[in-house]
Amino acid sequence: MFNCKHCGSCCRNLDKSDIYAHLDRGDGVCRYLMGNDCSIYDTRPLLCRIDDSYDSVFSNIMSREEFYRINENACNMLRGLEG
Ligand code: SF4
Ligand code: SF4
Repeated sequence: MFNCKHCGSCCRNLDKSDIYAHLDRGDGVCRYLMGNDCSIYDTRPLLCRIDDSYDSVFSNIMSREEFYRINENACNMLRGLEG
């Protein structure tokens, strides 16, 4: 499984990608974020599920290791934006 650190940075920067616009409460923060936790974790959308997204969409395109690396880079970038 992807090594998510549960920092919540991805859920506070939805305005960096149009595909998350429907979750954005208007300031880049997800309408379902409570502290650093997802309040709909068990039913969160596929685009919030890294492993399920890989299995459903990206497994024909790249290796799981490469997909994880891309996601980790995005996590690090978002955390860097937050200081
Ligand atoms: S930014 Fe990355 S490590 Fe942090 S909660 Fe999101 S997926 Fe997990
Ligand atoms: S639905 Fe949950 S996991 Fe997805 S962006 Fe919102 S708070 Fe984060």
